[in-house]
Order: sequence, then C-alpha cells, then structure tokens
Amino acid sequence: MDFLVLFLFYLALMLIGVVMICICPEMHYVTGLVRGRTQIFSCIISECLQQAILGLLHYLFHTRNYIFIILHLILQGAIYTEYTWEIFGYCQELEFSLCYLILPYLLLIINLIFFTLTCVSNPGTITKANELLFLKVYEFDEVMFPMNRSCPTCDLRKPARSKHCSVCNRCVHRFDHHCIWVNNCIGAWNVKYFFLYLLTLTASAASMAVVSTVFLVQLVVLSDMYSKTYIDDLGHSQVIDTVFLIQYLFLTFPRIVFMLGFVVVLSFLLGGYLCFSLYLAATNQTTNEWHKARAYCQPCHPASRPPSAKSHVYQNIYSRRLWSNLGEIFLPAAAHYDRKKK
Ligand SMILES: [Zn+2]
Ligand SMILES: [Zn+2]
Repeated sequence: MDFLVLFLFYLALMLIGVVMICICPEMHYVTGLVRGRTQIFSCIISECLQQAILGLLHYLFHTRNYIFIILHLILQGAIYTEYTWEIFGYCQELEFSLCYLILPYLLLIINLIFFTLTCVSNPGTITKANELLFLKVYEFDEVMFPMNRSCPTCDLRKPARSKHCSVCNRCVHRFDHHCIWVNNCIGAWNVKYFFLYLLTLTASAASMAVVSTVFLVQLVVLSDMYSKTYIDDLGHSQVIDTVFLIQYLFLTFPRIVFMLGFVVVLSFLLGGYLCFSLYLAATNQTTNEWHKARAYCQPCHPASRPPSAKSHVYQNIYSRRLWSNLGEIFLPAAAHYDRKKK
C-alpha cells in the first residue's frame, strides 16, 4: 500500500508540474507565485538567490530561448528509446501485429514535421508593409478590439484580433498565444500546424499508452497470475490482487511502468488541451480572446475592468457556422472587411 501511495503521489506531482508548465498560458502566474514564495522565505533565501530564481524564470518564460524545445526533444527521445528498447522487442516476442507496433513511429514522424513547421513558420507578423492588409481582415468590435488603437512598441495600428507578443517583441495577426514548447507565437498563419502538432502528439502518447498497457495485460494473462497466491508479512497465503499486481509489475518492469504512468497522464492532459483547442476553433475564438472575454463577463471592481468594457458587453462577432469556424484554422481569413462594408 505504501508503494501505491508513493506512486499516486508521483503521478499527482507530475500532473501539477505539467499543468503549471504546459497548459497554463499565463506564465506571469508562475513568476508571481515564485515571487510570492520567495518573499515568504526571504528570511531563509538570500536576496541574491531570489534575484537569480526570478532572473531564471524571466529567461525561461519571458524571452525567446531553445530550452523547452531541447527539453521537448529529450523527453520525446527518452520515451521512444524506452519503447524501442523494451516494449517493441517484448511485443515482437509475444507476436503483436507489426502495424500496431509501428503506429507510434509513424505518428512521431508526422508529429516532428508539424512541430518543425510550427517552430519555424511565420505566425502572421504585422509589419509596415502588411499593416493595411491586416487591418481589412477582421471587423473591429469596439469592445475588445477598438478601431484606431496603435501598438506603442511597434508603432503600428492594431488590426482587430491582433496582439503584441512581449516575448517575441512583435505584433501578431489573430494572436492565439506564445507557446514556449515551440518557441514561437501561434497566430493566423501557423495555428493549423500547431493544431496538427497537438493532435499527433496526443495520438502518439495515447498509442504508446495503449501498446504498453496491452503488453502488460498480455503478460499478466499469459502468466496466469490472478490464479496464484503469495505469502504476506504475517505469513498468510493471499490471492494476488490488483495492488499486488501493480507492485509486482513495477518491480519487474520499472522503466515500462514509469513510462506508462507518464504517457497516460500526458495523454489525458494533451487530450484535454486538444478538446479546449477544438472548442476555441469551433467557436472562432483565440486563447487570447477567450482569456480576455472572461474579464468582461466576470463581475469585478470597475477599476480592474478593461477600459472599453465599462459601457459594453462583449460578444464574439467573429463566430459563424461551425464548418466556417473550423475552416478558418486551415484557411486564414483574407482581407474582405472593406468589401463587406461597401
Ligand atoms: Zn507590437
Ligand atoms: Zn511570441
């Protein structure tokens, strides 16, 4: 039982860690959280160490760097090495179908293609040259996106649905969010690659979780373990139950069970995030707009409300029919706003 508690503790810790780093789009929370903690422990942690921690967090989450890309590739490499090293070989011995075993590799190849495309593609950077064109793509709703607003950093007029990314220091058309795992902004032009990258990453994690689970179940069935008994600490003969079985499998195949725990948690997290992305695509919202819309809906102190929200209620004017909304992910809207007004 101690083992199971420790294993659940490990899963919970991993879950919290991954949610904090991958899912939470507002990394200000992480910095804020650490700033709060360092203030609490200021008597223990020296000023110099506090500055070093905050400096490191600033570098990780608020500047463009390749740390998370390297971490991403290391994690992916480690999981696939373990899969090839142990599971692939054992499964071949158990005569698993080769198509079934190769599926995670196919998904990896497709995933790496979309990962690279998301990393290197232009998300829709607004420049002096294309500013006028982008201004005509979406209508200004005068609540979240008022007309005649400029970006003080880029000295450009802000097209509707655009946002200045403080990490990349540029304004991005139909800005969704800045993703640290691809070290790039997600905007109108690369959201399709990001979406397919997320889909294939979820599928590869899920396929690996399924193959590993089937392999372990097959082992248990073949060894006929459920019909066997063991002697407990008090010397009594006990029938093998699920808890004993998990402990046995962990002790016999520690790396496989550890990897399985990781890919199962990852599959659920990525699956959840994929569903959220699908919801945003179906309702024609960006993560940035979804986040801002909550500020308009939530009852808050007037001073903390966005200035344009004082006299308006936010309504998503960009959502059309479901298929048109989903299509906009793969075929970014062209400049048609002028034509519509005429
Ligand atoms: Zn800007
Ligand atoms: Zn960015």
